[in-house]
Amino acid sequence: MEAPPVIRESPYRCIGCGYDLSGTAIGGQCPECGRPIVDSLRSREIGGRRSGQANASMILGILGLVLFPFLGMLAWYLARKAREEFASGGFDSTSRSMATAGLVMGIIGTIISVFWAIYMAAFLVIEVL
Ligand SMILES: [Zn+2]
Repeated sequence: MEAPPVIRESPYRCIGCGYDLSGTAIGGQCPECGRPIVDSLRSREIGGRRSGQANASMILGILGLVLFPFLGMLAWYLARKAREEFASGGFDSTSRSMATAGLVMGIIGTIISVFWAIYMAAFLVIEVL
């Protein structure tokens, strides 16, 4: 008989008590509080916490692309903070997608602002000379 699948992601916290569930069988219960592990899996996918930082990162990323490229740096920073936050577990997959979108747009916005800065610097030098 095959061994039951186990949680490989670490840390993967129980929504009941915060116990690290990595290595426990997916069909089983939390060794600490007895809550079914399936509850924690579901919450991760649908009902998990929203990350405000991931949300802000995506919004700033969009604004950085359409409005003001310098906001991209802030989006990039917030996306990194959001990813640190995810390491503790309990966040929904939407927040993860938003952080990824914020990260990508943030990097693009940052690159655009660097080009802008170079362009402005070159313009100033030409004006002054
Ligand atoms: Zn528990």
